[in-house]
Formats: sequence, C-alpha cells, structure tokens
Amino acid sequence: MTSRSIQPLFVTCALLALAALPTLCGAAPSVSRLTPPSELFATHTTSGPAIARFLPGQHFDLQATVRLDPGATLADFRFSVDGIDARPAAGTTSVVTTGLSLPTDVNAAVVSQRAYSLKTPGLHTLTVHATQSDGQSVSATGNFEIVALERNGKPVKNVIILLGDGMGASQRTAARIMSRGYALGKPQRLLAMDTFPVTGMVMTASLDGIVTDSAPGMSNYVTGNKSANNMEGVFPDDTLDAFDNPRIEYLSEYLHRTQGKALGIVTSADVFDATPAAMAVHTSNRGYGTGIVDQYLDDRGLTGLTVLMGGGRKWFLPNGDKLKENGLLDGQPMNGSQRDARSDYELPSDLVQGWGAARGAKDPGRDLIQEFQNAGFAYAPDKAALSAAASSTRLLGLFSYSNMNVAFDKIGKRRGTSTVVDDYGFPDQPMLDEMTSVALNVLAKQKQGFVAMIEGASIDKQEHLMDTDRWLLEVLEFDRAVQVAKDFAVSHPDTIVIITADHECAGASIIGASTKPTAVLQSATASPGTAAQRDAIVGTYQASKFPKYVIAADGYPINTDVDFKMLIGYGANADRYETWLSNSTPTQDPQQPFVGAAPLNGYPATPNARNATTGFLVTGQVPGDSAVHTATDVPLSAYGRGAMAFTGVMDNTDVFFKLAKLAGAR
Ligand SMILES: [Zn+2]
Repeated sequence: MTSRSIQPLFVTCALLALAALPTLCGAAPSVSRLTPPSELFATHTTSGPAIARFLPGQHFDLQATVRLDPGATLADFRFSVDGIDARPAAGTTSVVTTGLSLPTDVNAAVVSQRAYSLKTPGLHTLTVHATQSDGQSVSATGNFEIVALERNGKPVKNVIILLGDGMGASQRTAARIMSRGYALGKPQRLLAMDTFPVTGMVMTASLDGIVTDSAPGMSNYVTGNKSANNMEGVFPDDTLDAFDNPRIEYLSEYLHRTQGKALGIVTSADVFDATPAAMAVHTSNRGYGTGIVDQYLDDRGLTGLTVLMGGGRKWFLPNGDKLKENGLLDGQPMNGSQRDARSDYELPSDLVQGWGAARGAKDPGRDLIQEFQNAGFAYAPDKAALSAAASSTRLLGLFSYSNMNVAFDKIGKRRGTSTVVDDYGFPDQPMLDEMTSVALNVLAKQKQGFVAMIEGASIDKQEHLMDTDRWLLEVLEFDRAVQVAKDFAVSHPDTIVIITADHECAGASIIGASTKPTAVLQSATASPGTAAQRDAIVGTYQASKFPKYVIAADGYPINTDVDFKMLIGYGANADRYETWLSNSTPTQDPQQPFVGAAPLNGYPATPNARNATTGFLVTGQVPGDSAVHTATDVPLSAYGRGAMAFTGVMDNTDVFFKLAKLAGAR
C-alpha cells in the first residue's frame, strides 16, 4: 500500500525555489528537511522501510529546516512525537538562521532539539510545528522506529569489531590463496577469519548512495542509522558548520553511558581517518582532522575512550603562529603539524547542553599528546614504547605523521630488504597484530568490559592505488590481528568478535595466475606497452594452476614475485600501467605532510605515473587516477557468545542492533 498526500504549497514553493523564483514563493512557510530522515517525509510514502531506527533510550537529535517568507522571522517551533510534545530539557533547543548552506536568497531557520530519546518500541510519527512572525504556521511529518529488545540470555562483556577496510570476498580469497596455498582444489589451511563459525553477508549502502565511503560505512555499524557519505555519527543538515549536525548516539557512547564500558580504537590509518573517527566523533566532514582528534580527547567522558592507536601525529603536534598550514615554514618542513583552525570546532550551546559535550575551541596551538598524557594516557611513539606500555591503563599510540606504512614495507624493514619506512622517518612501527595484542591487554583491565574496533585500513588504501601485493599483505596482517582477537575471545568467553568490511573496494577479482616464471615477466617489461605481458602471461581456468608462495616465519611471503604468481584484475579501476610485478616503493600518500620532499619524491605520485615506462596500459572505467569503492555486499564472520545472530543477509545498520542486544541493551 502506498498513500500519497502531498501538500500543494510545499510543492509549489519547492518548484519555485528550483526555478530560482523564491520571491514568488511568499504564500506560507514550508519545511524542506525533517530529521531523522524518513521516507514518509521525503516521498510521503508509508509503505517503505523505517529509515531511522534507535534503541530504547538511545539519544538522537530532532531537527527541521523551515523556509520562511521573505522578511519573515521564526516566531515559534516545537516537535511532537505521536502527537505529544517532545518536551526539550532547558537549553537544548536552537534556531539557526545564518551560516546556512542554502542559497543566500532563501530565508530559512534550522530548528533543533538535542539528545531526544524514547523508550516505547514501535513506529512513531515525528511532527515539527513552526510559526513565522506574521502568524502563518506550517507542520510536517516523518517517522522513526524504536526497536524492541527481547531478552537475550547472559550479556556479552566485550565487543570486538575487526574492520578490514575495503575487504570483500575477493580479498579474503586472494589472501587465503597467497598465505595458505591450495592443492588439488583445496586450501592447505584456513585463514583465521575462515575459522569463525558463523558468516553472513552485509549490505553497505549509505544514506545518499548505493556506494558508501568509509565514514558511513563504519558509522552505520555503530549507530544503527544511515549516515550520508563523508559523515560520521550524524545526519545531514543545512548549516555550513561541520560539527553541529544532528547527532546519533554511538554504540560506544550508549554502552559507556548505560554500562560504563570502555572504548578502544586501533587502526593502521591516521587516527583521524573515517573508520576510526566513525566510532566516536560526530562530524559531517571526515576531513576535519584537528576537530576530530580534539573530540576524541575532550569527549572521552561520553565515549569511554581508553585506547587510541594508529598513525596521525600531525594532528596532535602544536601548530604555532609561525607555522604555515602545510607544516612548512619558508618551504622547509617543521614539526609536521597540520593542526589548523579551519578544521577545528566550537560547538553551539544546545549541543553542549543536550549531550554534555565539551564546547571545544579553535586551538591549532594545542599540544594534544601532552594533554592525552595529562589525562592519564601512556604515550607510545614506536613499537619499542608500545611493548613497554602494555601495563598501562590508558594508551595513546601514534606511530607516524599520517597513515602508517603498510605491512609490505614494514616487513621489508624488519627483514633488512627495504628502507621505505626509514624514508618516511618512522623505522620502528608495530604491526597491526602487535597493536591489537597490547590494546586488548589494556582494555581487559576494564571491569565493565569494552567495545574495540580494530581496522586494517590500508587494504582499502592500496586497493585504491591498485597496488596488488601491498593490499594482499595488508589482508595477511589483518588476519594475524584476527587471530589475536580470536585468542582473546577463547580466554575471555564473554566476548563477541565480528570481522567485516565497510565496503568492497576496486572490484578486485582473482583472474588467474601467470603462466610464466617471474623472469619472463621481468623481461617482458623491457618492451613497454605491448600486450605481451597480458596475452602470453595471463593463465585462466586450469592454466592458472595453484600459485605457490613460500611463507616465512614472520607470516608473510618470502617473495611476492614468485614464479606463476596469482594475478588480480580490477572492475572499478582507473587507468594504470600493469607489470604484474610487485612495486619496490609504494605510491605516494598525499596525506603525508612531507610528501614531495626528499626522500619520498622519487616514489610514484599516482598509479598512472607508476610503471608508466615499463607496464602495459589498462584503461579504466572511472574518472580520476584511483580505483573506487563498489556497492557489492561484503562478508561478515562472527565468533563467540551470540555469534549465531550474524547469519543471513543483513543491512549494515542491523549489525548495531545485534551487537547492542548481545551486550545487554534494554
Ligand atoms: Zn576507500
């Protein structure tokens, strides 16, 4: 059943606004956005799925954009739920009329009521009522659902989410082929993630597209709601401020507030990156690193943040007056800081009052490492210090300026065969499994348990670059972290562990294996641009046989350029030059503060520049020079108490409710 009841005035005004004739639209105020988002408001459809869903008592903001007649002001507004006023607590409402992202000739007010919650399960109607200065009024209706929580046995104490960024089914299969080997059609052994007893498939779309980026890709798992691309822990709005968006309470915040659980975040990326930030930080701009890392510290009382580990020191180092935004002073690298006021925030009063959040300040000169230490966090700048910090009760680890170097290059350093990590200036970076082990040790001291997110971030980053052997080793490193988490769950049976991805990336597929020894590939690259590297080398079906990699004691292949190596193609690719061989240096990472400076300036700038004189051109299907995410469902595997909840095909937002139920939400 579909019922449509369209308000004629709203349509008229909207069409006139589209036609840039706002002055003719003076008939009455209208509502152009109602949050939480719903199909009922957007399309007046009552038969669609409930878009916004919350736990009983989970906090979220109510907001509407009211378009006023020219010259009119907003006289009054209120929200009601099922016809009953949603009585705001003192100081938790606001009316914003400036700094809007709407066209300047639109007269509008964004009205908010912060940190609303409701305990009654079921579908509820949300109505905003607004009156403008001449007495004309408007109301608009949407809906949201409060999800019923049946009792679920003994709650789990600890929740561990292992997030392989960009890790679809192909990536798991390719890692198994490389690290475990196949014989006569069967794998010799399984990956750690293959041994999890329950597996399902996850739909990954965001609020505004079938293809998500990593911000909603993670946020949707831990808020139960669809965020739009680039946003984490918030719904979209019509203001320019990236930190004032309508918030949704995170799993970490909900379980800290109701149970006192701690939060741990471990990533191989810069800690400001979308996936880690989408565990704890509320912003509509995933790029605003200064504010994101400030919020980690300043709102740790809301999230229970106890462990934060990864790269990203550039956001924590004080940026003095003399220091330019790019970390250069007179063209020379300074301390690497990229803190600036533009990517920082100061929250409006209604958010501070409603959520108990710290107001914040635009303070690029802040020394955030020192402030974390003042708050009782041990600080580990490298692997040696990390090992020594296992006995601490709170831990900050920042092992590089931005994203950490990848396993391919970290292992190369440990074996004495690569100087890449030295070139980046961080020779002693831990592996993800080492970080995971220390993090779980520290978090295990928390009497009320914890929520931990451990991210293999550069599976995705190297897939974007189509650097096959680099992302493959990232999956191997991630799987070693999976083993650490599984071992923890074996010794702490009150733990649920899930492994999943935020999305697939690059449309990676295992197309077969080389029919030639590596020496032939190497000589083929002497004649660039020929199809010889493809037609004479790509073995499909049975010609691919079973590629054999020799795995060293450290868990990684002794050599990725084995004879008859596995070959990977990309279905969501940009132009690149392919040699099928491993690249001795990584492609440059523009997030590094000193990229372009010696000694990194010899590294290829893009996949399109990489191997341009030695590889054959593979033309892409997407614009730009990077491969992109895809909309394909991703696997999710579960281990531990309650794992059976994760079988079947589910939406990424469903995972939130499953985890919350297992953790004893009620
Ligand atoms: Zn990505």
